[in-house]
Amino acid sequence: MARLSVVIYGNSILRRKMKPVENFEEAVELVDDMFDTMYEENGIGLAANQIGKDLNLMVVDITHTDEWDTPFVFVNGKILERWGESVMEEGCLSLPEIRVEVRRAETVRLAYQDLSGKKHVNEYIGLMARVIQHEMDHVNGRVITDHTSSLQKQRFGKRLKELEASHGKLSEAILKRN
Ligand SMILES: [Zn+2]
Repeated sequence: MARLSVVIYGNSILRRKMKPVENFEEAVELVDDMFDTMYEENGIGLAANQIGKDLNLMVVDITHTDEWDTPFVFVNGKILERWGESVMEEGCLSLPEIRVEVRRAETVRLAYQDLSGKKHVNEYIGLMARVIQHEMDHVNGRVITDHTSSLQKQRFGKRLKELEASHGKLSEAILKRN
């Protein structure tokens, strides 16, 4: 188990669609590192490309709420359906110091596999549904600022450029190291 560096905005891996997990043994090892990294950074969700791995794999832990009392691992996730709507402010470990109001579905139906490869379809609501949508965005090469209006974008346009300039190259180095 190890704590890895989080890939910051500006790195191209955050903009790619992730590949399906085929080697589940590798995923098991990776997930340990992902949880360690997420806890160290005080995050509640992390996608594999945020530690530089090109895989459809994400971890979520919202046990600080009373919604769920266990952490989750989702392998090869795909959102099948979305219902309802909710708006909430979100942050992202890959976009330090940026907070964005994001409109998302209130409920999602997610198809995924567990770490043994077994297939599941489940419905999630509330914060869990929100984190799943946030992480599935990462899997599909999207980040929170993609959800904002052009007016809002003007507000953190400068910050995004700064991140890109200072962390873009650094992140490429992290990619090689991780
Ligand atoms: Zn994120």
